[in-house]
Amino acid sequence: MQQKFLPYGRQLIEDDDIEAVAAVLRGDYLTTGPTVAAFETALAARLDAPFAVACSSATAGLHLAAMALGLDQGDVAIVPANTFLATANAIRYVGADVVFSDVDPDTGLSTATHFEAATKKASGPVKVILPVHFAGQAQGPEEIRKVAERQGAKIIEDACHAIGAEYDRNGVRSKIGACLDSDMAVFSFHPVKTIAMGEGGAVTTRDAGLAEKLSRFRSHGMVRDATRFSQQDMATDTSGGLNTWYYEMSELGFNYRASDIHCALGLSQLRKLDRFVAHRNDLADHYDHLLAPIASVVRPLRRIAGSSPAWHLYVALFDFQAIGKSRAQVMAELQMLGVGTQVHYVPVPHQPYYRALYGNGEYPGAEAYYSRCLSLPMFASMSHDDATHVVDSIVRVLNS
Ligand SMILES: *Cc1c(COP(=O)(O)O)cnc(C)c1O
Repeated sequence: MQQKFLPYGRQLIEDDDIEAVAAVLRGDYLTTGPTVAAFETALAARLDAPFAVACSSATAGLHLAAMALGLDQGDVAIVPANTFLATANAIRYVGADVVFSDVDPDTGLSTATHFEAATKKASGPVKVILPVHFAGQAQGPEEIRKVAERQGAKIIEDACHAIGAEYDRNGVRSKIGACLDSDMAVFSFHPVKTIAMGEGGAVTTRDAGLAEKLSRFRSHGMVRDATRFSQQDMATDTSGGLNTWYYEMSELGFNYRASDIHCALGLSQLRKLDRFVAHRNDLADHYDHLLAPIASVVRPLRRIAGSSPAWHLYVALFDFQAIGKSRAQVMAELQMLGVGTQVHYVPVPHQPYYRALYGNGEYPGAEAYYSRCLSLPMFASMSHDDATHVVDSIVRVLNS
């Protein structure tokens, strides 16, 4: 039987998404128009955050967040070894240094203990800790906040995997993105993530001052609000009237804006978030169930107590040694059976760029995790039958 190919992740775009984008294309504003604000308002409301600032990608969002905290050369930020490059790179964009924290080999996340241990390796003051809610689980946000408080550090959550996730906070379920235990949370709407904008991201915060900085740095550092001008002589004409064309820049910013076209898609997709998350979580449960008979060689990630995940990835941990095949071989054989897989992630401190900067650190947890991980197909349009096909294919590869 001819099976369709299952990638490890992909977007689900429906007719109403296409209609929402087309409506913007027919309108007056392709960018810096009302759809950006509408998306930000809806996102903030959905995540229980007072402020959301949309931007061109999560990478831009992480950079903006580092800038908003005034992170600079000589400062140190702690980043988990198991993450996408962007979490660490954003720290380098502002000239600060990265200290990598190790991760739990069975979840891929850094715990408060890992972050605490990393603070001891830092040569300068730790200004920021960046927890990564890997695969869609959150690990003890309150304990991590306590570690940060003891250091006088701030927290930027890399929540790119975790839109829709919640955690137990003193018996109350709290949303990732509400920033109850952090200063800012950064989301990605890249097509493989839970909802898509094409390219796009957002930063949420409870702090009005940070929100103002994020939106200012997103657009060149430019200010148009006359009450904030520092050069009143240039802002007004000889009769004291306002020079309506005048704008001011006191600090360097970028063009990291999200367009109305992208935000129209984001707004439309946001309405589907609950459905998409429920479906992903249901698929994860189904995978767990299907993998149970081969648990001695293929296990799901450990579920973190107190975390209500929004599974972005479905990572299985393979004992390749016991299987007698390398990961590359297993991936190639699965590919032949129509099953796409991916590895999340090559430990960031092992990248040549970071090795050249910081040498070869040891991350036994991240290495034990990395040697076994394989992300199986997981996306909103996938069915139970598709997941069954994936696990049947794994069993065939194990037995061949
Ligand atoms: C996808 C991702 C990013 C980067 O997101 P972009 O929107 O592609 O810039 C950063 N961190 C993590 C953990 C991610 O998964």
